[in-house]
Amino acid sequence: MNMNEQMKESEESILHTYNRFPVVFEKGQGCYLYDSEGKEYLDFAAGIAVNSLGYHYPGYDEALKDQIDKLMHISNLYYNEPIIEAGAKLVKASKMSKAFFTNSGTEAIEGALKAAKKYAYVRDGHADHEIIAMNHSFHGRSIGALSVTGTAHYREPFEPLMGGVKFADFNDLESVKAQITDKTCAIITEVVQGEGGIYPAKKEFLEGLRQICDEKDIMLIFDEIQCGMGRTGHYFAWQAYGVQPDIMTSAKALGCGVPVGAFVLNEKAAKASLEPGDHGTTYGGNPFVCAAVSKVFDIYENDKIIEHVQEMTPYLEQKLDEIVAKHECAATRRGMGFMQGIVIQGRPVGEVVKAALAKGLLVISAGSDVLRIVPPLVITKEHIDKMAAILDECME
Ligand SMILES: *Cc1c(COP(=O)(O)O)cnc(C)c1O
Repeated sequence: MNMNEQMKESEESILHTYNRFPVVFEKGQGCYLYDSEGKEYLDFAAGIAVNSLGYHYPGYDEALKDQIDKLMHISNLYYNEPIIEAGAKLVKASKMSKAFFTNSGTEAIEGALKAAKKYAYVRDGHADHEIIAMNHSFHGRSIGALSVTGTAHYREPFEPLMGGVKFADFNDLESVKAQITDKTCAIITEVVQGEGGIYPAKKEFLEGLRQICDEKDIMLIFDEIQCGMGRTGHYFAWQAYGVQPDIMTSAKALGCGVPVGAFVLNEKAAKASLEPGDHGTTYGGNPFVCAAVSKVFDIYENDKIIEHVQEMTPYLEQKLDEIVAKHECAATRRGMGFMQGIVIQGRPVGEVVKAALAKGLLVISAGSDVLRIVPPLVITKEHIDKMAAILDECME
């Protein structure tokens, strides 16, 4: 079958919820992907910020294969070895207290919301608490996660969603204050908005949220699903700001390709929220995915992945800034570390993405007009040069 036939066959059985790009990928190596007709693509999308180690990173596959040979799944009714290691490493990297592993980012959000609601319930015995979320946020597609996602067209067809959610403007502390009531139990925000268009939080904003939450005993939830796991040059983006959440969510690059997420609680949240019987998952944190998480942390530490992001960021930013300076359609750049966006004007961002694909470069869009650059964290200067050269052509 050629690629066109494969795509046609896919559409016959797979529900059409994505307008997919016309390419079937077969394998990857390093920071490159190969389609089923053998064409090579430089990958600056990383499976939407998942494949932070690229493809077949030394030691990663072996760790997973070893675990397959030992044990794939038992149940959370029993202890297993990989979850013990993965949990300790996640708690250490985040300097938080307790982790709960999930199968996805969305489920991590669900757990975080439940923990915050339970914390408030334990405190005052009421069951009518409210959550403040941000406009243009993205937290996932389940009913709970969708309820705190600040894009109306994602939510509308599925109303009524979870009640008690109010929206404020990201980076606008006064708009958050205006939504606070005696019932507010949580404020949830990304530290760098991803799907919304690559908007980093302002320091004063996060500090202000922390202060409000401290004063009113509200749980501060940071969604680190996209911006976490080293992408900004820190394990978690909030560490760049020195503002700690009470609850944090992680996923995407947490397992660098296996379906795994987590919500992580500080001591205060862990002590007085979810208890046995309150929450559970069949697959979440099974030996297979936790072997991946554990190995990912080892690789990050031993191979200094985060230090590499810090070292390479100025070069990536410089190359992107040169493109912005040169091309009329590239209005501005914003971002942190290896999570960068270029605002495209005067032509659809999708056109640039498609042109790049045709020339063998994978980039994606975010929001309505932003070109999103979220490469594997292991890219080198040569990869950056090649990306910049292709983007330069695409912007002509
Ligand atoms: C991708 C994403 C999610 C949802 O994660 P899934 O694994 O797709 O469920 C939630 N929050 C943010 C910030 C994300 O980028």
